[in-house]
Order: sequence, then C-alpha cells, then structure tokens
Amino acid sequence: MRASSVYRGGIIVALALIVAAGSGAIAQQRRFVNVATGGTAGVYFPLGAALARTWTEKVSGVQSSSQATGASVANVNLLQKGDVEVAFVQNDIVYYAFNGIEMFARDKQDRLRGMAMLYPETIQLVTLQSKNINSVADLRGKRVAVGAPKSGTEVNARQILRAYDIGYTITQRTTGLTNLITAEFLSFAEAADQLKDGVIDAAFITAGHPTAAVQDIAASRDIKIVSIPANVVERLREPYPYYTAVTIPANTYRGQTADVPTTAVMAMLVTRQEVPEDLVYQLTKALWENVTALQQAHARGRDIRTETARNGMPVTMHAGALRYYRERNIR
Ligand code: GLU
Repeated sequence: MRASSVYRGGIIVALALIVAAGSGAIAQQRRFVNVATGGTAGVYFPLGAALARTWTEKVSGVQSSSQATGASVANVNLLQKGDVEVAFVQNDIVYYAFNGIEMFARDKQDRLRGMAMLYPETIQLVTLQSKNINSVADLRGKRVAVGAPKSGTEVNARQILRAYDIGYTITQRTTGLTNLITAEFLSFAEAADQLKDGVIDAAFITAGHPTAAVQDIAASRDIKIVSIPANVVERLREPYPYYTAVTIPANTYRGQTADVPTTAVMAMLVTRQEVPEDLVYQLTKALWENVTALQQAHARGRDIRTETARNGMPVTMHAGALRYYRERNIR
C-alpha cells in the first residue's frame, strides 16, 4: 500500500516537472497580450484589432489579441483583474479610477499605468429629425440609450443630463430629480438598431467621429446630432475638467449639413504596473513605429501622434513606456 502511494507520487512529480519544463519553454517563446476594446460598432474595436495584429507581427514572442467589451469602466475592471494587459479607456474614467473617486470611490485602481494618449472622443447625442429633439432639455420623458453598462459613454450621458437637471427614472429616488428620461443601457450597435426602429428616441455615443454606429443610422434615416453648447461645456468642466469644447464638422455624416458644437474627452491606452517593463517598452515602441496601421484602421488614427502621446496624461506613466518616450526625447 505504502509503496504504491509513493510510486504514484513519483509519477505525479515527474509529470509536474515535464509540464513545468514545457510551459517554461512556451512562456519564453510566447507572451500573450490581450487588448480590451469596446463594442463592435465603435472606434476602439477596429483600432484594437489593428494594434493586436501589429504587436503579434512586430514584437517577437508576443501573441496579441483584442476583444469586444462594454468599454471604459469595464476595461479598467478587466485590467485590474489581470484578464487583459492593455486597454482603451477614456481619460476622464482613468482619472476617476486612479484617484478612487466617482464610480471608483470604493475601488481605487492605483496600479493603472499610462501608455499613450490617443485621440478625441466626441460626445454625440444622436436622434432622428422626425423626433423633434433640439436640445438636451428636450430629452425629458424620452427613451434614451445611455451607453453599454460600465461604459464611459454612460458616465458622460449621466453627467451631461445632470447639467440640465435631468436624471434616469431608475435613480429618481436617489437623486431627487423630477425631470427624467427612461435610460436604456445599450451598446452602440443596439442603440443604432433601436433608433432606426423607433424604439428609442435618442442615443448618447462617446467615440471618435465618424463612428460606425452613427454612419449606420444615417445610411437609412434622416439623423440629427444635438448640440451641447459651449456654455454648458464650461459648466461641466468645473467638476469634470476633462471635457473640452469641440465641433463635429458639417457632412461628417450623411444629411448633417451644419457644424455641431459639442464636447469631447480623450481616448488613451492603459496598462497596469505589474506588466513587465521590457514588454511595455517593446509594445510602446512597436505602436509608434507602426502607427500607420492605426491610421489606416480609422480616420481618428490621424490624431494619434508621438508629439501628443504624453499630453495631459491623467495617470502615472508605465516605466516601460516612459523609457521609450525618453529615448525619443518626447515630453
Ligand atoms: N469611449 C466609449 C466608452 O468607453 C467607447 C468608444 C468606442 O468603442 O470607440 O464608452
């Protein structure tokens, strides 16, 4: 009896050694780099796919893949859990997470680290001309898509509605607001379908323009993009300084004949402290040496430039990324 259990133990140890040796060899050959993006009808998604392809092709030993997610807030959680190594996140959400405020008040994420600032993400309040909605104030009593659960879009929708004293029906009791919308937590693709079908009246979309979901609606319906005027943006900036005033140029979308003043935040790439310095250095280097791949994947890729890669980063830079920028003399 005894002899046989020792013998069995021996086999287990031997197998464990083989497995350990095998996985050690694999680990040396391949490092997995998962990239969290957003919904399929956004901008993070095509850019993330291009980035993962670039990293797999250009960084030896790296196997990178991108995945669709609920976007910014969800991506911070995925990073924190160690499910992904890199994520696209809005700069306002990174700031809240890193400092443990707003939705991260009980869940400070101070291991987040910056890799690069990317491009402006425009807050687009999209409706149909037939809906007769001309201002955020007209959303009262309407059914509105506010972004996927745990998206940055949803945070922006809530803050902007609040600037007009409008809340969600579901939070009526907690906010005490009497002007309400019925909030629908939808991805960009779902919001596009439901706006086309007349199920919802309007949709908030925070993404680089032109956004595939908005192009999709405009292809078959007469759309209107509702302005968020500069004075409202000024007011928003007091508590939330990451909002900036921007304009969506006329004819960005079919049937949009005039410029639309609105607001934007910035997209950025983030990682976490534990990802090895050399790996982040290699990824950052490959990102910038092959930035044309991102420029080809979406029009906003044109805004992704090394000169602005560090501008206004709301979080500590990862040591590997910092090494690259210092080498290139980028401040
Ligand atoms: N910024 C959006 C969000 O976090 C996602 C944008 C995109 O998918 O391109 O909700």
